[in-house]
Amino acid sequence: MSKDVQHGYPHSYYAATRNLDLSFPALTSDISADVCVVGGGFSGLATTLFLRESGLDVVLLESRLIGWGASGRNGGQVVAGYGEDTEEVVARVHGSSAGHRAYALGFTTIDLLKAVVDRYKIDCDLTWGYIRTALTARQADSLQSIAKDLGQRKPEVLGDLFEGNNVERLVGSSAYRAALYTKNEGHLHPLNLALGEANAIQGLGGQIFEQSAATDIQHSNNGQAVTVNTAGGQVRADTLVLCGNAYLEKLEPRLQQTLIPGYSAIIATEPLAADVRARLIPHNAAVSDMRSVLDYYRFSADGRMLWGGLGHWSGADSANPEPLLRKRMTKIFPELAQVPTEYQWSGRIGISANLNPQIGCLAPNVYYAQAYSGHGVASTHLSGRMIADAITGQSDDFEMFASINHQRVPNIDLVHKLARAWGMNSRRVIEWF
Ligand SMILES: Cc1cc2nc3c(=O)[nH]c(=O)nc-3n(C[C@H](O)[C@H](O)[C@H](O)COP(=O)(O)OP(=O)(O)OC[C@H]3O[C@@H](n4cnc5c(N)ncnc54)[C@H](O)[C@@H]3O)c2cc1C
Repeated sequence: MSKDVQHGYPHSYYAATRNLDLSFPALTSDISADVCVVGGGFSGLATTLFLRESGLDVVLLESRLIGWGASGRNGGQVVAGYGEDTEEVVARVHGSSAGHRAYALGFTTIDLLKAVVDRYKIDCDLTWGYIRTALTARQADSLQSIAKDLGQRKPEVLGDLFEGNNVERLVGSSAYRAALYTKNEGHLHPLNLALGEANAIQGLGGQIFEQSAATDIQHSNNGQAVTVNTAGGQVRADTLVLCGNAYLEKLEPRLQQTLIPGYSAIIATEPLAADVRARLIPHNAAVSDMRSVLDYYRFSADGRMLWGGLGHWSGADSANPEPLLRKRMTKIFPELAQVPTEYQWSGRIGISANLNPQIGCLAPNVYYAQAYSGHGVASTHLSGRMIADAITGQSDDFEMFASINHQRVPNIDLVHKLARAWGMNSRRVIEWF
């Protein structure tokens, strides 16, 4: 039996190549802590880690396994920015200087992640280099605007912009009109990052419980304490942080009201020969295109093509996303048609109507973070930093993002399905021109 099946993770390349066999107990007693964090993905892990570094007594509850949700099965693409057009979203509410601050914070997402990897020497194949590709003339124009903006505001991260035949210096495909390289973004093995962070928390004396779903939350002491129940025990804490994202479901219905659950899927091929890899992505960067329902891909450390994107045309989950993903992959790289797929898997993402993460408070001592709209590997670390700062003292950045209103979406399965299908297909048609 392979490593992944034994341990209860989805059957993915990541589970099969995880480099730490951590196992945390289930909660079986009543305990107390300063803070209880629900959810063992990057949001919960980063929050717990930063709080523990500040000396708080923190308990993390995970309903399945560390990194079992989106954090342990994503594309591993490390992308800058907190959300989409965050500068404008924040400026509309707080004015242009706050917008500039939000823009700058978008770059710190990666600094925070890198600092954690360095501080705890986490072995997660962190590799630098990112390529945005344009399939259409309009997307090529957008790339030019991005390059111009970065050149003026963040020149140190800007690499080359290639057009026409020169694109093949970055990506060995004739499908693209333009491609832009950035130096500060990249890719990593997300499950090994999650496990490394959990290991760091444990090393600092933080308590983690797996197979311990929070089933119910009670508020007491005039709203100054919470009790979080699980099947086997309970955690009494001064503060609660909810980081279940798209997997939180009914535990806190108010958080479902602004979140549309979506799905993304990934295939991993057999390892490719070094000369093939050098032809397809010469700089071993992560690659994505410019569509909102995008294809994203990169090589794993052992040389596989990890190709991600939509697993089903409607945006719904699919038990067999491989045919659709393979069709897209071989359209870009026809020479991969004969290379077998070894793994396929999918996961749930939390989508926000304005494509920006949602952080805030449901009560003075109940915080939350969710809805990264498919771009959470780095930005979850900024959420964790801001929430930890808000709990231990004061965070103007937390207040700035927390006061943004997020549009509600009726929490009805049919509405979500229609919203997803409409969102996927209307955008794809528009973007083709
Ligand atoms: C297939 C796929 C590809 C993606 N690719 C990328 C990418 O390349 N780059 C990028 O930046 N982002 C990507 N994303 C998005 C990114 O993975 C997420 O934004 C990020 O991992 C969110 O982290 P999180 O901790 O908020 O949520 P999650 O990682 O989903 O974690 C939530 C956790 O909470 C637990 N939980 C839920 N309810 C409870 C409860 N009641 N009690 C206890 N625990 C509970 C769940 O079991 C889960 O482990 C991708 C997502 C998917 C699914």
